[in-house]
Amino acid sequence: MPTYETTYCINHPKTETKLRCNRCEEYICASCSVHTPTGYRCKDCIKEHEKVFNTSLWYDYLIGFIVAAILAAIGSAIVSLLSNWFFGLFVLLFSPFAATIIVNAVQAATRRRRSKSLFITIALGVLAGGLPAILGGISSLLFIFSSPEYASNFSIWWILPLIWQVVYLFITAPAVYANLSGFTFK
Ligand SMILES: [Zn+2]
Ligand SMILES: [Zn+2]
Repeated sequence: MPTYETTYCINHPKTETKLRCNRCEEYICASCSVHTPTGYRCKDCIKEHEKVFNTSLWYDYLIGFIVAAILAAIGSAIVSLLSNWFFGLFVLLFSPFAATIIVNAVQAATRRRRSKSLFITIALGVLAGGLPAILGGISSLLFIFSSPEYASNFSIWWILPLIWQVVYLFITAPAVYANLSGFTFK
């Protein structure tokens, strides 16, 4: 015969509950439970889980940011060469390639340690590395528009290098983040 004994939350001995953590199987009330893709978990088990998946050390943020910024800056120099040689469309091929190089270099430098906040920091490093070229492009455009004789001769070719820099960053930074976080689930 099944027994219908009342069960209580492990943290709140006065709160009745039928809910159990699917990892440690303790009874937990609604406010003590966290809904995860695999079911309800208690907060202690969630913390344990995060420890396993957050292996990054404090200096990984520094190393990751710097390595990503330097490589992204080199990439943006290559992009500016490509767009000056009218090979701008190659940026579409080059950007995912640059993302792969950056991911491999950063993973080697941080010994494949990982955490979501580290991946975000690395993606921000990519943005920081690509930003000077964009700011430079914007300031030279401002210079062109401030002088009447140049502005009247304005051609789309003057703005294209800047557009390619933006395209490069818009492809590379998200691709780096996606590649890094994809690695977590392998
Ligand atoms: Zn648990
Ligand atoms: Zn509770």
